[in-house]
Amino acid sequence: MYQTTALHAFAVAMPKVELHVHLEGAIQPGTVLELARRHSIKLPVESEASLRKWYQFRDFRHFIEIYLTIQNLLRSPADFELITYDFGREMRRHNTRYAEATFTPFTHIWQDKGLTADDLIDGLEAGRQKAKRDFGVEIAWVLDIPRNLSFDGEDYTGFASDPTVEMALAWQDRGVVALGLGGNEVGAPPEPFAHAFAAAHDGGLHSVPHAGETVGPASVWGALRALGAERIGHGVRAIEDPELIDYLVEHQIPLEVNPTSNIRLGVYPGYEQHPLRRLWDAGAYVTVNSDDPPLFNTTLSQEYRVLIDHFGFDAAMLEQISLNALQASFLLDERKTEMASEFRAEFARLRAQLL
Ligand SMILES: [Zn+2]
Repeated sequence: MYQTTALHAFAVAMPKVELHVHLEGAIQPGTVLELARRHSIKLPVESEASLRKWYQFRDFRHFIEIYLTIQNLLRSPADFELITYDFGREMRRHNTRYAEATFTPFTHIWQDKGLTADDLIDGLEAGRQKAKRDFGVEIAWVLDIPRNLSFDGEDYTGFASDPTVEMALAWQDRGVVALGLGGNEVGAPPEPFAHAFAAAHDGGLHSVPHAGETVGPASVWGALRALGAERIGHGVRAIEDPELIDYLVEHQIPLEVNPTSNIRLGVYPGYEQHPLRRLWDAGAYVTVNSDDPPLFNTTLSQEYRVLIDHFGFDAAMLEQISLNALQASFLLDERKTEMASEFRAEFARLRAQLL
């Protein structure tokens, strides 16, 4: 008992890196209220307590309703600054030193809220700089294409892809490091996005598409072959194809695994059926992340606790998960080496104190 409690405390306190978290899905209920007040927008519920309840995952329809409500509250550069700054505060709470967070610019422009691309990046950049100054955390961005908006029925249109690539290429001096591909995989396969990822790659951006979450191995193969994926967002359903697992192990392609998200969205009925431990035991490159933390009632620390409670991880394995994320990030090698030695020193100090 004492052991588990100590290990839980270690999971919260240890330094971490996060590679898969959506900025718009990470907005805390208190900030949602503040944004609603700012723009005199009426929410389905009024108080912070009832908002917390409304926020909790019920089913996919409700999840989308929350997402759209949040999108509608983001209307000015100051709003994007606020949510980025708050995200930085959360990072510090969980000792997340560095995050490559996903942001979906296209939906904000497309929704016709009077926002320009400059409004978005100005707000993000101001929030990122303030978070670094006040909380000592570093944020980089993955801009993702909402994949479904690039299709008209079965036909690929490039509607959301081309503007997203353009913004990602233009904003590399303000923290954008990669192009992502998000949204529902069903009916939106990776292959038609090959040209978008090729343009991003040629311009110096990395490739981190979502794949293998709601669609099985075919989606992961497509992400690897057509999009040059350097990491896979989720990728858990690769477990259904032994040949794919061999490939992922051989090439050590990092998987951005989000256990609680997978359970809440029904990819697996429970942690017992989740393949994280099997992927780890097979030698796959596993990282652990929170995806949309308040919407799934989780945090990055909580996901590390899930590793202890449901997947039999000990302190050394938790440390490896944290270092895996650092090594799989797009920080410069020099910076990785520096941070890895800081992390190791802190792990040792925390072990002596807590375990
Ligand atoms: Zn995601």
